[in-house]
Amino acid sequence: MIPVEKSKLYTARIDSVSSDGNGVARLDGYTVFVPYTAPGDTALIEITDTKQRFGLGRLIEVISPSADRIEARCGAYEKCGGCRLMHMDYAAQLREKREAVENAMRRIGGFKDFELSSMTGMENPFRYRNKMIFQIGGAGEPVCGFYAHSSRSVVPVDDCLLGDKINGEIIQAVTEYIKEAGVSAYDGRSGLIRGIFTRASAHTGEIMVVIPVNGRALPESGVLVKKLRAVSDKIVSVILNVNKNPGAPVLGNKNITLFGKSAITDYILGIKFEISPQSFFQINPIQTEKLYEKTIALAAPDGKTVMDIYCGIGTISLCAAKTAEKVIGVEIVERAVKDARRNAEINGVKNAFFYAGEAEKLVPRMIRGGERADVVILDPPRKGSDAATLSAMAEAAPERVVYVSCNPATLARDAKFLAEMGYFINEAHGFDMFPHTEHVETVLLMTKN
Ligand code: SAH
Repeated sequence: MIPVEKSKLYTARIDSVSSDGNGVARLDGYTVFVPYTAPGDTALIEITDTKQRFGLGRLIEVISPSADRIEARCGAYEKCGGCRLMHMDYAAQLREKREAVENAMRRIGGFKDFELSSMTGMENPFRYRNKMIFQIGGAGEPVCGFYAHSSRSVVPVDDCLLGDKINGEIIQAVTEYIKEAGVSAYDGRSGLIRGIFTRASAHTGEIMVVIPVNGRALPESGVLVKKLRAVSDKIVSVILNVNKNPGAPVLGNKNITLFGKSAITDYILGIKFEISPQSFFQINPIQTEKLYEKTIALAAPDGKTVMDIYCGIGTISLCAAKTAEKVIGVEIVERAVKDARRNAEINGVKNAFFYAGEAEKLVPRMIRGGERADVVILDPPRKGSDAATLSAMAEAAPERVVYVSCNPATLARDAKFLAEMGYFINEAHGFDMFPHTEHVETVLLMTKN
């Protein structure tokens, strides 16, 4: 029996935060998820959906606020789908992220007394993103902003507190141009301009502005370039991106450089990267360096053979290659493997080798073919690794396994699998790569003894 009814109001006490950032209440033992509530709130909620095992609710009014509750600093919060925790102070966000990892490791992994040794937050948890995607939409006067939660309607914003302040000026310049040149917004079927995509380099200050369009040209693009160059001389690259695909990805495959460079340069732990509009690159440069520093410290690659599975563009591989004897990177996306090889080349790294393919096929083949690994680093996507990859990897009997994870649930599952293969947890550290969102990153060291 479900003890609550849809569309009715209830008073609920919120006692925790779910892995997707919603407050969790229990009404007569029935779990209800309520976005934008904080643990410790007593709130009036409306039940919006009831499923067999849990329900969904909507915050109507906070009756008695949690000690963690603060005024969110963003006018688009709760409308824009990006942030989930901005109504909680930063220390409370970090506490909840720590708990999310510890709970997953205890409940899913079965590691009874598991604790993180540290949880590294940001000194200033704002303006950390080096990449922003603003959508342009709206019938009539085009508006620039973000898609509302699970929808294609655009919530207008004139700035985002997670990105560089200069984005506000870039939005302004592009909007001015749109009005002057009479350019239409793309509405999913027709219209021209789809959005504004910006990338910034933390170490060189260079900024790239990419304009995705449903066409091959922009009218009076010289005016746009002029306006953008007037914003700042840090804007060293303006690119038109041809994207006629009605689907969600904001970027198409074809780039036309309207001004300056076709790629900007950034560094991670002293390693140089060239970033084009499509390149995969870590989003939070400050936290990435802290995370990768810890990853390398735990991997202790000096003089060893390292296998970096799910290596992307080879960021961790190239950091490890500085002192390792040899690094082998495995990655499914061919373009990323090409980038990894090129990154090795521009940094003069000769001891890193990258292979394209599915880890679950490639790793077993490599290990059976006699490839060795003293140290294995894994940095899988949210769905985690799998039995084929992990058991093949364990056959190589690496001394150290360093698992970098963006999803505590799959980390816990995979760590349990490794524990069954004779590995023990040595230590684990949490990193907040995305303040104000529900995401948390963990790096875990496992060894044979
Ligand atoms: N450390 C990397 C990022 C890892 S993100 C870097 O800094 O660049 C996870 C990576 O796993 C992505 O690049 C994704 O393309 C890759 N991936 C996803 N599924 C995979 C699979 N089955 N086999 C190999 N790589 C995979």
